[in-house]
Amino acid sequence: MASHFLDKIFENNKNWIEDKLSLQPNYFNDLGKGQKPEFLYIGCSDSRVTAEELMGLNPGEVFVHRNIANMVINIDLNTMSVVEYAVEHLKVNHLVVCGHYACGGVMAAMQSADLGILNPWLRCIRDVYRLHKDELNDIENEEKKYARLVELNVQEQCVNLIKTAVVQKAYRQRELTVHGWVFDVHSGKLIDLKIDFEGILKEIMEIYHLD
Ligand SMILES: [Zn+2]
Repeated sequence: MASHFLDKIFENNKNWIEDKLSLQPNYFNDLGKGQKPEFLYIGCSDSRVTAEELMGLNPGEVFVHRNIANMVINIDLNTMSVVEYAVEHLKVNHLVVCGHYACGGVMAAMQSADLGILNPWLRCIRDVYRLHKDELNDIENEEKKYARLVELNVQEQCVNLIKTAVVQKAYRQRELTVHGWVFDVHSGKLIDLKIDFEGILKEIMEIYHLD
């Protein structure tokens, strides 16, 4: 990478500090005091889907975790640590799983190529396809099929959040909700899939209930 590109980043940072201080002289003093975010955002690592920017939030307002295809895999120590910390210690009340259309991870999952270390990760998306194969197989248009798979993947990752002890416990103790969103990279629109949190919770409790 050309060094002027890196220089530009530090130049940007200087300008950003000046901008912030010109509006709020105490900005960084306040930021240094701690965080009290209301949201945990779990999104895709895709460079087009930035958490704070698409929600119009500032530093300190959202706890963020991003990975390929916004997965919540129950034995992934990384995601599970983030969820535990956000819910148990930061006491966030809104958990968001945000997918996006034209997700390279979701598309790669459905190819038969051997993708090395990505295989087990992406296989979890194939599991989503298997769970919903009747609905998905009925969609002839490839683009629409992938778009629906993106939405269903978000829904299943929300279910994975609801399966966890920390979410179930927090739900019993306070108002905590899981939201499923999709970001449309073609229009910039954020779409609420209106995941039926209460309904899913009730349904999966039969199997996943934890004390
Ligand atoms: Zn993606």
